[in-house]
Amino acid sequence: MKIGIDIDGTITHPSSCFTYMNKHLGTSIDFNQASEYELHTYTDMNQIEFWDYMVNSGHETGIYRESIPQEHVRHHLWNLRKQYDLHYVTARSELVRPVTEEWIKQHELPLDSLIMTGSHDKVQVVRDLSLDLFMEDRLENAVQIAEDTSIPVILFDAPYNRKAVPNNVIRVASWNEAVQEIQKFAPIR
Ligand SMILES: [Mg+2]
Repeated sequence: MKIGIDIDGTITHPSSCFTYMNKHLGTSIDFNQASEYELHTYTDMNQIEFWDYMVNSGHETGIYRESIPQEHVRHHLWNLRKQYDLHYVTARSELVRPVTEEWIKQHELPLDSLIMTGSHDKVQVVRDLSLDLFMEDRLENAVQIAEDTSIPVILFDAPYNRKAVPNNVIRVASWNEAVQEIQKFAPIR
């Protein structure tokens, strides 16, 4: 079985980017009330202005560098890797591959395959790699993958993704729960 795994909000803790913005960009976002996924909505910039600013000021790499892994993710990734092919599939661009790989190594996570789409469209990657299951935190991605490819998608619950989902999207609150769900599809021997 081949598993696709998003990075931000799935491997990293979903509060990481909000913590970074509060610390470095002067926002005061309460993660538990953060109903919007798109970070620019917490500023007075539009999406293009915000990401231009983030890239040019070095804050984009800063966010990735200061991200905190989810609880137990390292343990579970190494365990899953014994049985399954793991592919990290992130919307981050190729330009930030160095900081991304550095972070993965720093946190001692397995690194076999890292696909950087530079966009939110991950359906093509799911098809190209014939992935059997996907793990994600962005609602729109989870729904799109589930509907367009019919594979099960494990959605990591976060304040910004609490809306109705199709039957093959399984909402979980932790990596422990996520692994229990994965085992239902292909039990670990
Ligand atoms: Mg994500």
